[in-house]
Amino acid sequence: MSKQEFYQAKYEYYRSMNMWVVIAACVLSVAYFFSDCYLFGRFTTATLLARMAIILPFLVFMWANKRTKDYRIMVTMTYVFGHSVMWCTIWACYYLEDLRYACVGFFIILFCSFILGIAAPISGAVVGQGFLFVDISIANTFLHYPDFAMMFLLGIPLYIGICVFDVAIERTFRDQLVMKKKLEENLKHDMLTGAYNRNLLTSLVDEGNHFVRDAGEQMAVALYDLDKFKHVNDTYGHVAGDEVLVKVTEAVRSKLNPSEYLVRWGGEEFIIVMKNRDGNFKAHVQEFRKAVEQLELAVGKITISIGVAVYDGGDYQKTIKNADTALYEAKNNGRNQVVIYQE
Ligand code: GH3
Ligand code: MG
Ligand code: MG
Repeated sequence: MSKQEFYQAKYEYYRSMNMWVVIAACVLSVAYFFSDCYLFGRFTTATLLARMAIILPFLVFMWANKRTKDYRIMVTMTYVFGHSVMWCTIWACYYLEDLRYACVGFFIILFCSFILGIAAPISGAVVGQGFLFVDISIANTFLHYPDFAMMFLLGIPLYIGICVFDVAIERTFRDQLVMKKKLEENLKHDMLTGAYNRNLLTSLVDEGNHFVRDAGEQMAVALYDLDKFKHVNDTYGHVAGDEVLVKVTEAVRSKLNPSEYLVRWGGEEFIIVMKNRDGNFKAHVQEFRKAVEQLELAVGKITISIGVAVYDGGDYQKTIKNADTALYEAKNNGRNQVVIYQE
């Protein structure tokens, strides 16, 4: 998984939480107006415009949030919003005579930006949050916060703690994503041979059970079954039989095109979903048969019989049934051969 895919998945996982924190931070930022009135000791609209100004970046964020899921855009928007809370607060502080509580406000904003950083790539979170110290330093040049030193003395250890938390959250997310991908893979794969299992087929068809294919793309189903496999089990044991299944699967897989799928249909029967063969499926199927025939195995020679049915655009299960009919014929005709289904 590429870095971009990982961060996209991370953002999408935390997307909803991110949006709600932005909403909460917007409400909080506006609510600071009431603490301003408390500091003034009376109702005043002195800081109202500065406090309400956050609504503009908030609306821009919500607009973007509706239109895109691209994490690069949304993480940028999130930090623009987070810093807007800071800038609006600095703007409001300009009108306040009593800046004793600016320190507390700063820690609250730092905490908000920490939660906003959870959905972001770790480097973005570290830089985005770190810039709050730049904001506050610039503001201090004209506001002269009485507790400016305290903002840094307590803010920096808090910031380091936040960064460590961000790293821990990203690692936890990575672990659960890897686990989820593995489980998804296992759901589609047969444990013994590594071929796909039946579950895969449902992802290759649409609601009408038609194979999904590109325009002009030809498809066919090849159903093969190992010849006289019971004999292998009876003579050499089940474990040796399992090894044969693995080796035969490897041989067949080595001849697959990138667009083709090998599916364990059940027992020692496998389906190859074939694509893009210019209609000449039989020659390609012979390659699978020969690859197995040429295997040097501890149990001696192993062969497969193959039934092939070209997909006619209808229900894919009908094509499998037709391939099964052709396979039956291949067995009856003496095994180790390919039979193409004819209507
Ligand atoms: P035919 O040529 O007609 O196919 O003869 P066959 O002996 O292969 O007959 P059939 O296909 O009916 O036999 C299937 C055998 O495959 C029976 C079963 O014990 C064996 N088998 C199915 N799945 C597995 C497996 O996972 N491991 C092992 N070792 N054997 C399996
Ligand atoms: Mg068999
Ligand atoms: Mg069988």
